[in-house]
Amino acid sequence: MTTPTLLRLAEVGPGVWVARSRRDATTSTVVLDGHGGALVIDPAWDADELAAIPADLAALGVRCVAGLATHQHHDHVLWHPDLGDVPRWSTPGTVRATVEDRAEVVRPLVGDLPDDLVAIAGRLTPIEGERLDWSGPTALVHVHHAHAPHHLALELPDLGLLVAGDMLSDVELPMPDDGDTDLVTYRTGLESLGDVVRRSRLLVPGHGAVSGRPVERWDSDRRYLDDVETRGASDDPRIGLAGMAELHAANVARARGTDGS
Ligand SMILES: [Zn+2]
Repeated sequence: MTTPTLLRLAEVGPGVWVARSRRDATTSTVVLDGHGGALVIDPAWDADELAAIPADLAALGVRCVAGLATHQHHDHVLWHPDLGDVPRWSTPGTVRATVEDRAEVVRPLVGDLPDDLVAIAGRLTPIEGERLDWSGPTALVHVHHAHAPHHLALELPDLGLLVAGDMLSDVELPMPDDGDTDLVTYRTGLESLGDVVRRSRLLVPGHGAVSGRPVERWDSDRRYLDDVETRGASDDPRIGLAGMAELHAANVARARGTDGS
């Protein structure tokens, strides 16, 4: 077995750095505040990868001043002690879920990550209002319920940046929440992001590649939903990627109203 490569933060735009985990191409995003501070969004995933983020920040001469979790899934609420004891924001609904359903949220991490990392996963603080109270560029919070309830997309309009969480991916099909049995919630959430996608120039999805053409991603997802709903089929190339055939079949069942969940 070869040793998996440890990928480090790479600059994808002015003051915006992204690392991609060896697991599911999960992205960690860093936005610099221009005053020696950094916002760390969805740091992921393995212990060495989490440790590399504060190390890379130190090499850049900055320190983490805040964190952000886009949604309640286990791979988006991770943290590392060296990032510090700073506020880790998320939407109030996500914070509530990580408190009330904590065992459920962290269950996939137990036995998979070191216990100290499991213990600090999901320790979040609710965002007040619709923008982050931080020292960096304006950061607007857009809440929807498509992939998970109370999911947020973070828009940094001065940077033309959209950090989308688990939406708008090149490696994942639209992945509705289990409670979304007919794709209506997913479509509503996707549509709600239309304006912000159109005015953004740089998209960071939760899994996959950073894109300079956010609208293409949004169009792909909408076309996929249209195809699944109108003809129960799609030629979306993502269907051929690992794990996606099952998700596609589940989405077709949702569209037909035969979803069993
Ligand atoms: Zn997710």
